Amino acid sequence: MEKLFLVFGDQLDVGHPLFEEVDSASDAVWMAEVKYESEYAWSHKQRTAFFFSAMRHFRDLLQEKEIPVYYHMISETVVAKQHKFSEVLGDFIKKHSPKEVVVVKPGEYRVEQGVRQVCDRAGVSLRMLEDKHFYSSPEHFAEHAKGRNSLRMEYFYREMRKEHGILMEDKKKPIGDAWNFDKENRGSFGKQGPQDVPPPLRIKPDRLTQSAMRDVEEYFSDNPGELEHFAWAVTREEALQVLEDFVLHRLPQFGEFQDAMWTDQPFLYHSLISSCLNIKLLNPREVVEAVEKAYHDGHASIAACEGFIRQVIGWREYVHGVYWMFMPDYLDRNELEATEKLPDFYWTGEADMTCLSQSIGQVIDYAYGHHIQRLMVTGLFAMLYGVDPKAIHAWYLAMYVDAIEWVELPNTLGMSQFADGSVMGSKPYAATGKYIDRMSNYCKECRFDPSKRVGEEACPFTTLYWDFLIKHREKLSSNHRMGFQLKNVDKLSDEVKAQIIEQAGLVRARYA
Ligand code: FAD
Ligand code: SF4
Repeated sequence: MEKLFLVFGDQLDVGHPLFEEVDSASDAVWMAEVKYESEYAWSHKQRTAFFFSAMRHFRDLLQEKEIPVYYHMISETVVAKQHKFSEVLGDFIKKHSPKEVVVVKPGEYRVEQGVRQVCDRAGVSLRMLEDKHFYSSPEHFAEHAKGRNSLRMEYFYREMRKEHGILMEDKKKPIGDAWNFDKENRGSFGKQGPQDVPPPLRIKPDRLTQSAMRDVEEYFSDNPGELEHFAWAVTREEALQVLEDFVLHRLPQFGEFQDAMWTDQPFLYHSLISSCLNIKLLNPREVVEAVEKAYHDGHASIAACEGFIRQVIGWREYVHGVYWMFMPDYLDRNELEATEKLPDFYWTGEADMTCLSQSIGQVIDYAYGHHIQRLMVTGLFAMLYGVDPKAIHAWYLAMYVDAIEWVELPNTLGMSQFADGSVMGSKPYAATGKYIDRMSNYCKECRFDPSKRVGEEACPFTTLYWDFLIKHREKLSSNHRMGFQLKNVDKLSDEVKAQIIEQAGLVRARYA
């Protein structure tokens, strides 16, 4: 064998130049399903089924193109007791002695290191290709970061808009005369709730997906989550249909309601494309082009289109840059010295708080939650409660169909937990239950009252918010963006502070 091309589950981009290089007479592609990838983060069943199904479809696509593929099914690697990809790959290299191993830079630091180690040990030369999926490479991001005291997303985003001429009138001026329309992106549904939201296109599991689901039930029966509602796109064609469906039916309302939440409405106006983007069935450029076209065709407003594009070329590219810039140390950051164990209800959804039982219950059923549920419900509670950042990171990495470490870790550790000491955010996203009340109907159906911080009916978010500010008063005092919140803490009498601390202790004891 001349060259062995490794393809991991999040590298299913058939347009990558790597595939043009394969000589079917002497080269081959290697892919593997292994147990460890679904166990080191105790992966949701839908997440594992999604990867297996998409990988199996991709294998068939390569074979149709007459590219030789050595595909290791989970049933084979389990029998061979090869639980880690490094074990499967090491044995394979020993047996087939390729002259060179070629791989696109893996999306996860751990996997990149693993590939290097296997090739080193086997004495085979390794060529790592640039990941062309992103607009901004780690090197480009490092260049952007040079000489800056802080790395705010907004400045990176504006640079990206200018550099790629996205939603620009000329090279300098943003369409609509503003870089963002954030103020128009914070609508809630009011008392009447969401009206006639077009349901997203969901894909019925085909034969290959069903076989992946059966394997998941066989090999990962104890893992969390349900398979019943599996309906994720697993091929490029399906991913394109999901994108088209979103642009046509939900993009016009996306901007206004992107932060809103409602009982039993898991998807609302969101796109559901993150999983397909992250395994590279979709390219961010085609997503951006489709949304820009919708604006120019008059199909959706600038506020909706800008709001969406900011997520893709702003936040998504930015967290990718942060990940590669700060790994591996990033993983160990714990700015607020949080040490609490993750409450069990995160795995079961059985919480007495409606916002959490809704947001987690839906993750168990669909392996999905939208951004504000992740940031301002599950993430906010963990930060206020003081959960060890590694424990909440493990949960986010496990439970969402779109979870891959480069995107999940900065969002969790940085944005939602403030554990990275303001690399990602200028201040902690700390709020009382009143924020959740404003953005949803959850509190109307809850036994707690978001306006109360002590007493039987006190909302745990509200209690823990004040406790959080009391506890971290000194640490946060140099953060000028916290000035207003800290001033309010300083107004509390010692007696009230003592009541809050006592109530927070009761909350922690209840969920421990
Ligand atoms: P939409 O709301 O329709 O947004 C469109 C697209 O923008 C998304 O598909 C996604 O690609 C991108 N996007 C939006 N926000 C972000 C963001 N903050 N970072 C990166 N990309 C973004 N996203 C993941 O893809 N994988 C994760 O593991 C993940 N973990 C998260 C953990 C936490 C604690 C938080 C607060 C956010 C996390 N996000 C993650 C970001 C965001 O919540 C999801 O991308 C989004 O909810 C996916 O649903 P959607 O495709 O319907 O997105
Ligand atoms: Fe959540 Fe508090 Fe509202 Fe209940 S009252 S739903 S716990 S924010």
